[in-house]
Amino acid sequence: MELILKGHDYKYAVEQIMLLMFPEERPVYVESDEGGSAFACSELSGDEKLSRTRLRYMGREVVGEAAFEGELPADEMLRKRETQKLVKLSFFKAAREATGTNPPWGALTGIRPGKLAERFMRQTGLGIAEAAAYIRDEYFATEDRALLCAETAEVAENLRKSFDPNDISLYIGIPFCPTRCAYCSFVSHSVEKSFKLIAPYVEALLKEVKEAGRLVRELGVRVVSVYIGGGTPTTLSAEQLTALMNAVNEAFDLSACREFTVEAGRPDTITREKLEAIREGGADRISINPQTMSDRVLAAIGRRHSGAAVTESYRLAREVFPGAVNMDLIAGLPADDPEGFRQSLDEVLALDPENITVHTLSLKRGSRINLEGTTIPDGEAVGEMLEYALSALRGAGYAPYYLYRQKFTSGGYENVGWTKPGFDGVYNVCMMEELHSTLSLGAGGVTKLVNPETGLIERIFNKKYPYEYISSIDELISAKEYMKEFYAKMRG
Ligand code: SF4
Repeated sequence: MELILKGHDYKYAVEQIMLLMFPEERPVYVESDEGGSAFACSELSGDEKLSRTRLRYMGREVVGEAAFEGELPADEMLRKRETQKLVKLSFFKAAREATGTNPPWGALTGIRPGKLAERFMRQTGLGIAEAAAYIRDEYFATEDRALLCAETAEVAENLRKSFDPNDISLYIGIPFCPTRCAYCSFVSHSVEKSFKLIAPYVEALLKEVKEAGRLVRELGVRVVSVYIGGGTPTTLSAEQLTALMNAVNEAFDLSACREFTVEAGRPDTITREKLEAIREGGADRISINPQTMSDRVLAAIGRRHSGAAVTESYRLAREVFPGAVNMDLIAGLPADDPEGFRQSLDEVLALDPENITVHTLSLKRGSRINLEGTTIPDGEAVGEMLEYALSALRGAGYAPYYLYRQKFTSGGYENVGWTKPGFDGVYNVCMMEELHSTLSLGAGGVTKLVNPETGLIERIFNKKYPYEYISSIDELISAKEYMKEFYAKMRG
């Protein structure tokens, strides 16, 4: 699409809305508006209070406008936030008229829509109904999405109020899986290819855990949630899991820890001994992630287990493990359809887990589905799946507790964690809403340092691949010493 910007240089904001509304188009900046059949001129007035977008598409020419009432903030960052919003909204309005479509999240393009609702609640002191109306009216999100956003924002706000500035979460990554799923774009290595790396990886990780424990004591911060994720942590043997859990318990004071999750992930890795190791290590939440209960879809995504195996693993977990269980499903998998998704969700609901997370398939670069050009359900079919999920989960007594969006999802939909009353997953909310710092250990781990007062965020990256993580473990441990500087600045 040919683009001209006048009175501003918010290229990224304009391109975000263009890609949202015209995913097949790519931006081409031009000097003149003559000739292009797909063209937009985005303008911001001199006083920055009015944005106007003139858009030509498929033979139609339309105009969208957005205005700011009152005085723009004096603070430059806040002012930019408002003026960018005007530019986005005027483009969105024009595009909506030209295409006759309104995406489920309206003009919202970020991965954390809940932050807007949280800010609204903090600034106004108002509740869910008003925050939902704000998201619907200001950003043109549908009623359902606006409500999801406001409900999850309230959970995050309540959690935020309960934390001390010195609280942190701890993440430990195990980047191995039995086989690689077709839609996977994570740094996850199938065991077939990387079995030899697992033992040295665990050894390096135990070293990092021990040193991170020392650092946490020196910093005077306290761990309030622990999450061992992946990959599939239960790819480790029961002995390796025990060694890891023991190391975590020895290194960290977990007396203030509110939640300790271990992703048991795929049923083809779950055994009684591993579940016992997780239980004995003090975890109180596990995740068993079928993604679908359909054998046909499981085969299509490259998983070597059946839906019945998920049920078996779940029953075993209930026998051995007394804590909460989360189960993940994905809407939009290849070979699935709305009826198949409905059946999967009904089967999972019948198992009665404390949490159910419903993701929308996101096809990032590097996933096999993308590489092989496999066909997947379209946006409309995914919309039907999620509509059913919304009503079935609410009907079964689950409430949404965290929400995020990813790029490249069919229909621009979202991922939502649902919970039975009293089982909101602490780590997921803290991490997604950036409520406090997360110390991340293991390959691919990104330590996120959050100043809850100012919102300032800094990151420390571990090496991505297991082999480089193993060989640079001492360097990675030293890099985390930067946390001392961050906290010294934060504490003034
Ligand atoms: S289980 Fe998760 S991390 Fe592992 S291959 Fe499948 S999608 Fe990737």
